[in-house]
Amino acid sequence: MTEGKDRAKFVIVKCPDCSSEQITFERATSAITCKICGSTLATPTGGRLKFKGQLVRSVEDAAQS
Ligand SMILES: [Zn+2]
Repeated sequence: MTEGKDRAKFVIVKCPDCSSEQITFERATSAITCKICGSTLATPTGGRLKFKGQLVRSVEDAAQS
């Protein structure tokens, strides 16, 4: 149980430039950049990430690798 806890999710975002998919944390305090081409995928705005790339899906359970 995670009652009382504000659990953020991992999300998969697709790079608009090179189409590579990257897993990132939903809440981050620094900008997310593509590890392949270095393009900015998301920027932090007021505690939440504003995604520039396409959000593919969220990862509810990251137990499987
Ligand atoms: Zn890229």
